[in-house]
Amino acid sequence: MPRPVKPGFSTRAIHVGQEPDPATGAVVPPIYQTTTYAQEDLGVHRGYDYSRAANPTRQMLETNLASLEGGTSAIAFASGMAAFTALMTHFRSGDHFIISENVYGGTYRALTQVFNRFGLASSWVDMTKPEPFLAAVEPSTKAIILESPTNPMMSLTDIAQFSSLARERGLLTIVDNTFMTPYCQRPLELGADVVYHSTTKYLCGHSDVIGGVVITSDSRLAADLAFIQKSLGAVPSPFDCWLTLRSLKTLAVRMERHNHNALQLAHFLDGHPNVSRVYFPGLKDHPQYDLALKQQRTPDGQPAFGGMISFETGSRENARKIARALKVFTLAESLGGVESLVNHPVTMTHASVPREQRESFGLTEGLLRLSVGIEDLADLQADLEGALGA
Ligand SMILES: *Cc1c(COP(=O)(O)O)cnc(C)c1O
Repeated sequence: MPRPVKPGFSTRAIHVGQEPDPATGAVVPPIYQTTTYAQEDLGVHRGYDYSRAANPTRQMLETNLASLEGGTSAIAFASGMAAFTALMTHFRSGDHFIISENVYGGTYRALTQVFNRFGLASSWVDMTKPEPFLAAVEPSTKAIILESPTNPMMSLTDIAQFSSLARERGLLTIVDNTFMTPYCQRPLELGADVVYHSTTKYLCGHSDVIGGVVITSDSRLAADLAFIQKSLGAVPSPFDCWLTLRSLKTLAVRMERHNHNALQLAHFLDGHPNVSRVYFPGLKDHPQYDLALKQQRTPDGQPAFGGMISFETGSRENARKIARALKVFTLAESLGGVESLVNHPVTMTHASVPREQRESFGLTEGLLRLSVGIEDLADLQADLEGALGA
């Protein structure tokens, strides 16, 4: 049988960057747990001299992730925030960014409390429609930074439309694709220039590694990011890279199950009398359901709504009671692991977002966010049923 022109997503996830070890035939390449490399002569080495600059295990991960996102280069970092920091240090004092008003709390904190010290300015706008973004463009604007769906309000941005409007204005489009993963959404195919991830979440998927990555097909940007990776040094350990590679092999099957469980639970919550509103792009009454159908697709074209659900309980006290009564869902920060988690954004992930800012987009004291895991659906539903009835 002739080889397929481009192997499918799972074939790439399992094989790209991970040939059997040429020295021993080991099917799983070894972890290159080394800081330095023997040199044959003065200035003569095999492309590796020091592991901050290059490490074979890290390169395997980068090759794999670039393939999954459909980019030519990936640059791995020690956390999602380190990946974002590397991206920001690509820019210069005086540069301006336009960013979704409702993003990961740590991204908000980094821009408003750290990068502002270095003269990087940002405007926070509603990215569900193009007008606020277009009105915010200044002569110093260099890029737009998007999350779709947003965390935790699950609002969407039309990545294809925004990328094309940004390109016409000479701006880069940067997408945080952590919530969706390349299995469910591929922003580079939709026209974005840069994707970054907290690999801590779905990509690693087992809640045991902190990591990040930036992926692009812009060779100049990629070269600068590799230079920043080496120069500023926020690199992941070889062991963490190896664990992430191992986890990526099951990304497709995990996401299928996350997507399935979350869709069923979103319908269940939607019909529950103690839930006043459910935020999930796979519900037909989500204001951007049609956009979700269009841009959130598995590699073989099936709709993919992701594993994250937010819902309104009416008050902080209700949210507290429900969070405490849940037994299978663990009250914890983070998301994207095999185990189900419940999060209270106001006191947890989004505590650093000022009250007026968060209330302006509906992030209330009564909001809970679920990261739906891959446990048995019946157990997850029974857990919610018990806690909501309590
Ligand atoms: C967790 C997260 C980050 C930050 O990543 P870390 O690995 O925790 O540094 C950025 N963006 C999103 C959407 C996240 O969920």
